[in-house]
Amino acid sequence: MSESPSSPAKTLTAPQKALRKLGLVRDIDLALHLPLRYEDETWIVKLADAREGDTVQIEATVTACEITMRPRRQLLVTVDDGSDTCVMRFFSFYPSHQKALAVGNRIRARGEVRGGFMGLTMMHPHFKAAGGALSTALTPVYPTVAGLPQPYLRRAVITGLNHADLSETLPPQAPWPDRRGPWSLRDALQFLHHPTPDVSMAALEDRSHPAWIRLKCEELLAQQLSQLTAKRERDRLRAPQLRQKPGGLHASLLAALPFGLTGAQQRVGQEIAADLARAVPMHRLLQGDVGAGKTVVAALAAMVAIDAGWQCALMAPTEILATQHFAKLVGWLEPLGVKVAWLIGSQKKKERTAMLGMVASGEAALVVGTHAVIQEHVKFKNLALAVIDEQHRFGVAQRLALRGKMQEGGMEPHMLMMSATPIPRTLAMSYYADLDVSVIDELPPGRTPIVTRVISDSRRDEVVQRIGAQLAQGRQVYWVCPLIEESEALDLTNATQTHADLSEALPGVMVGLLHSRMPVAEKKAVMDLFTSGQMGVLVSTTVIEVGVDVPNASLMVIEHAERFGLSQLHQLRGRVGRGAAASACVLLYGTGDSGRLGETARERLRAMVETTDGFEIARRDLEIRGPGEFLGARQSGAPLLRFADLATDTPLLDWARELAPVMLDRYPPLAERHVSRWLGGKSEYLKA
Ligand code: ADP
Ligand code: MG
Repeated sequence: MSESPSSPAKTLTAPQKALRKLGLVRDIDLALHLPLRYEDETWIVKLADAREGDTVQIEATVTACEITMRPRRQLLVTVDDGSDTCVMRFFSFYPSHQKALAVGNRIRARGEVRGGFMGLTMMHPHFKAAGGALSTALTPVYPTVAGLPQPYLRRAVITGLNHADLSETLPPQAPWPDRRGPWSLRDALQFLHHPTPDVSMAALEDRSHPAWIRLKCEELLAQQLSQLTAKRERDRLRAPQLRQKPGGLHASLLAALPFGLTGAQQRVGQEIAADLARAVPMHRLLQGDVGAGKTVVAALAAMVAIDAGWQCALMAPTEILATQHFAKLVGWLEPLGVKVAWLIGSQKKKERTAMLGMVASGEAALVVGTHAVIQEHVKFKNLALAVIDEQHRFGVAQRLALRGKMQEGGMEPHMLMMSATPIPRTLAMSYYADLDVSVIDELPPGRTPIVTRVISDSRRDEVVQRIGAQLAQGRQVYWVCPLIEESEALDLTNATQTHADLSEALPGVMVGLLHSRMPVAEKKAVMDLFTSGQMGVLVSTTVIEVGVDVPNASLMVIEHAERFGLSQLHQLRGRVGRGAAASACVLLYGTGDSGRLGETARERLRAMVETTDGFEIARRDLEIRGPGEFLGARQSGAPLLRFADLATDTPLLDWARELAPVMLDRYPPLAERHVSRWLGGKSEYLKA
């Protein structure tokens, strides 16, 4: 394609616009747009040999062609190829169909063969007049969008393939992870776009063919190269060197805490301290299962920065969470003389102005808040450490904005990103290769494992009794209402109804209601009542999903659990089991009209019962959903792998990880060409 990316959109035809929508702009983009599957039009099958479910091409004579009205209007065409007959059905058709399919015509048709009590049938087969040359190669079928017909796309791909620069970018004598040796990129692409008919379909489908190996390796290498480049660029930046003062705030906070740190907390604390003491910005991901105690680790890091005369920011994804962090941190830090400010969207103007002033003057050493912290008018005096809680809930742009809050020339703040959604090793190695990772792999002592039960919604009454029993022991209960994605209003009705039911069933108990549409002050009032223990049951939509910490709560009921994603269920369950009491999680499920649960829903609920280990949950989640959805917000940054599959291609990933630094050191021009071929202009975002 010769058109340049900057040509004005209005001059584009519909298919050209569609190409752009698919990101197919450069020749190389088209060349790398690989078929979803292939159709075999290289031979004609006898109807007698066709098996049910096969997509085949036949040549036959039309013996009947009629319109019937039952069970609905359709064109029924019977054909005979001498070996057997087949009935073709068309539900949408034009007079031209009837003409082309008139009795006596010989046609060539292709479609999926099905059995049936009338014999073989095909639904809406493609057809044309019989005769004409057979294809010599398999016909590629490309992923496409509306307005971009396959034949147009095929021609565009061929043009791209012919014009693209496919010269070698692998260093000479580079090792290769496949004993069959590397195919050249050109050969691999030629082959995948137009495989010869003798190829094993299985090797194409499971992507084990050497041509696929070449593409997957190329893709993984591009990803590793771009992330390593970003990391090296960041390593050239400067950040304030923050050293722990003996007997300083860090020590005072440790001494004031009502608990001692776990071994894992101490270890990651040291990893972070080592980063802060360097003059390059930290870029560290702190992973730890829900309840592992990440907040205190972040607070301790903040103490080091504040002691050195700098400011810190802590950003959380929801107001509830930000509020809770604020309360907790004020409790810990104000006795030590550290002033904490907070910024949230719904704050009163007067309060906000006061807070902004404290942040700008440096009077507030720590600022806690939501996205409000990264708004343009928020000016820090000297920000040195930015902590992002539940980082997977933030996009790349937001992380970049927080980094931009550093005012000192040429410097960047240290960044600590925290996440309770553990990332399986292969994902971390591939998507987060530019990050350092610390893991809290140990829960604070004294926690008893949460027992999880899956119970049909029809046994709701028993669950309500169970709530009564927990309350009688002085415990508290969460009841989370279903997520109905199409309608926030429905979510609300549901929660309101449950709230009314529980209030009635549990006389004398304070039952609260929390949902996202409530004014912030009201949310806060409800949360305060629950946190202080006065409220026994909190009915909520998923606003409590992340981070909420009420150790006395020991029962979590999740209604319509089948509608939640696995990591979300795990997060919700993590709201209990935070104190010493034995805790339980009840997953109520409804089966709807079908009377049974879908397969993936069942798998998710099974995983919840079988394990409470966040890493295992994450692994299964990845298995059930695939990395695309799993990565969530990160999607906007890292280009997802299109060809490689992290579940099966770990050896290829290892190969790419080893080769990337060698290439950057010894063959920088090759590395650059490789990255721009694969990522084009998209690699900018990876620096976040
Ligand atoms: P998360 O990692 O999910 O953010 P939090 O930081 O909210 O977890 O900690 C969960 C609870 O455990 C909090 O009440 C916190 O004060 C407490 N906690 C943290 N570390 C310890 C520890 N070492 N011993 C006992 N309790 C701890
Ligand atoms: Mg947390």
